[in-house]
Amino acid sequence: MVSFKELGLKNTRKMFEVSLEKKFAVPGYNINNLEQLQAIIIGCGETDSPVIIQISQGARDYANQTMLRYLGQGGVEMAKELGYNIPIALHLDHGNSFELCKDCIDSGFSSIMFDGSHLEYEKNIEVTKKVVEYAHKNDVSVEAELGVLAGIEEHVKSEVHKYTDPEQVEDFVNRTQCDSLAIAIGTSHGAYKFKVDKQEDIPELRFDILKDVRKRLGKFPIVLHGSSSVLKKYVDVINNYGGNLEKAFGIPEEQLRKATEFGVSKINIDTDGRLVVTAMVRKILAENPKEFDPRKYLGPARDELSEMIKRKNKEVLGSADQAKFI
Ligand SMILES: [Zn+2]
Repeated sequence: MVSFKELGLKNTRKMFEVSLEKKFAVPGYNINNLEQLQAIIIGCGETDSPVIIQISQGARDYANQTMLRYLGQGGVEMAKELGYNIPIALHLDHGNSFELCKDCIDSGFSSIMFDGSHLEYEKNIEVTKKVVEYAHKNDVSVEAELGVLAGIEEHVKSEVHKYTDPEQVEDFVNRTQCDSLAIAIGTSHGAYKFKVDKQEDIPELRFDILKDVRKRLGKFPIVLHGSSSVLKKYVDVINNYGGNLEKAFGIPEEQLRKATEFGVSKINIDTDGRLVVTAMVRKILAENPKEFDPRKYLGPARDELSEMIKRKNKEVLGSADQAKFI
């Protein structure tokens, strides 16, 4: 058993406290490999942003749980070596059982999500509460979820939205004692968030629900999953170099900025990072057919990803220049 504190990681408590006070969102960026981690550390380090590094079930299947934990630890050490003084949390994304959450807590994660959103309400409370009790003994933060997001994120699949019911949130938070709550207000996982033909037809997020939840919970951290904007710039590069992403649309960045004004303290971005890497790899290989050194296409993909992260931190989340207050 290893505590996250020995690894130099931070839980999310202070990050969220400051985010609520100063109205910005802490980024939740997902990793599956070395280059994504490097891009996150550099992107957040250069912008002096706190960061939550997220590991999903799919990432664990892909890269091995132990490997990812050491990668996370390597990220902390790399940040120190480069002189970045930023708080870094290592977070389990969409944990689906008490056992998995416990396993991650015992192996050095500083924050975990238990996603019981597909369970019946009372059952969601029961398991979330059990996870919280164990996590809090170890000073680990817990994110819970109410409401169901449409879309596909590896092991999380749902055909329909079920918006969060604001009438349930106080009871849920009081009884589970979770540290943050993911809610469903119209964001969704993946690159095809809306069944529309053009960008202009994307419906607005349900700010009415967000405001109502905020009113009921007061200064309590709210989390948005599935909040990539499916950046057109990269979708176009992918399509221009042999890809076929049709009608891929995401959440407009100005709506995410607006969400940070109403108590959204964490915004999860995964798909946008995937698009950047795919766009760069497609372009470089198409333009350099003789290239066979992975560093020559993964390196520039990593650099572009860290640029995207810097821009998101500065222009969308507002998390740039906030690490010093945490
Ligand atoms: Zn998610």
